[in-house]
Amino acid sequence: MGISDAQDVEVRVDEKNEYDPQPVDKLMNGTDEHGNDDADDKKCDNNNNNVNFISINIETNRNEQPKSKGFTIFGYRLSQIKWTNVIWLLFIHTLAVIGYIYLTLYPVKFWSVWWAILLALFGGFGVSVGAHRLWAHRSFKANWFLRFVLVFMETFSMNGGCYSYARDHRCHHKFVDTNGDPKNAKRGFFFAHIGWWMVKKHPDVLRMGAKLNHSDLNDEPLIVWQKRLYFPLFLLLSVVLATLVPYYGWDEDIWTAFFVAAVCRTVVVVHHLFTVNSIAHIWGLRPYNRHIGPTESKLTMYLSMGEGSHNYHHTFPMDYANCEKKWWEVFNPSTLFVDVCELLGFATDLKKPSPEVIKGIVGRKGEPSFYENKLLQERTMRHRIWKGMREWATGVAVAGWAIYPPMLFKIITNRPLIVF
Ligand SMILES: [Zn+2]
Ligand SMILES: [Zn+2]
Repeated sequence: MGISDAQDVEVRVDEKNEYDPQPVDKLMNGTDEHGNDDADDKKCDNNNNNVNFISINIETNRNEQPKSKGFTIFGYRLSQIKWTNVIWLLFIHTLAVIGYIYLTLYPVKFWSVWWAILLALFGGFGVSVGAHRLWAHRSFKANWFLRFVLVFMETFSMNGGCYSYARDHRCHHKFVDTNGDPKNAKRGFFFAHIGWWMVKKHPDVLRMGAKLNHSDLNDEPLIVWQKRLYFPLFLLLSVVLATLVPYYGWDEDIWTAFFVAAVCRTVVVVHHLFTVNSIAHIWGLRPYNRHIGPTESKLTMYLSMGEGSHNYHHTFPMDYANCEKKWWEVFNPSTLFVDVCELLGFATDLKKPSPEVIKGIVGRKGEPSFYENKLLQERTMRHRIWKGMREWATGVAVAGWAIYPPMLFKIITNRPLIVF
């Protein structure tokens, strides 16, 4: 079904000639377009997950639409489209619109809202902390209990499982914004956001991706098992369990429970997480490495549990915090999650580049004035804490945007706002 194979390899090699060849091979060697070697990079990427950050001339790797003759939809032949995924996405988005109207018109119990928020956090942490920071980048180590919890939480996200996410994400880093990148932002906002889910993979993704080593993922039975059973597990947890808990737990209307906790929650979280590939690859500053597409995006930071410092992340992919700053200085719930897990003894070996390494690479590849400005703006601890509190308040407010229109409608039409 659509979800389970969303990121699976499906394009046949004989489709290769339908695409422009792109020079992604050169990215496999250890030098960037300036002839710099990866010595500094390797200092930051000592985690053996073969995801070095790269520096490429994005202009020379400009992407293309597939060249197709005959009948096409948005430039794609019918056989290039993943129809099961398209139908699934149309279905779930239609349901989400119907559900959103339903939830606006009818009462939603207080605990159902919190249940939906809890499941949204499950999906968010599962992808951000589990699939991304742990399995794609190995930026920290987790004991069996934390790994189990993260796999459980990731299953609520509709993101295709930790295995396929990690595999595709390594490709994304290695060949960022080229044909070898499964979510190539050069193919436009829609493709980078969700369109990549609807069409078969570019042959370069398969060709170059095959050169990456994913044996560490194959060695983890838990995520191999989750990969095999993803769609039934998703239905069981994210739809059936999500709906039945409010129904039996506090006597919620079955349709309300279904729409708020299963459908709308899932769709909203998916789009929040996808802004990392779309917004944070298109709009924003590139202070850490000006040669790559990923940017610093506050909006993505707020929507994606702290994954928006994306220019930093593509420059220092092994940093467990995905951000130069501490969790309390910016809205970064995922880093808080890992820090708490470390305190509890569930997570160890949290990787972080030293300030000297960061500064050195910014000086060579980024915008050194960024650091000079930062030093000029060095503030007291009290100021940093105050700014951090403002960031968190803004992050929570922005991440909860989907709740406001129904609340506003209920206030205007004198419907009860809080129902037990
Ligand atoms: Zn990226
Ligand atoms: Zn990453």
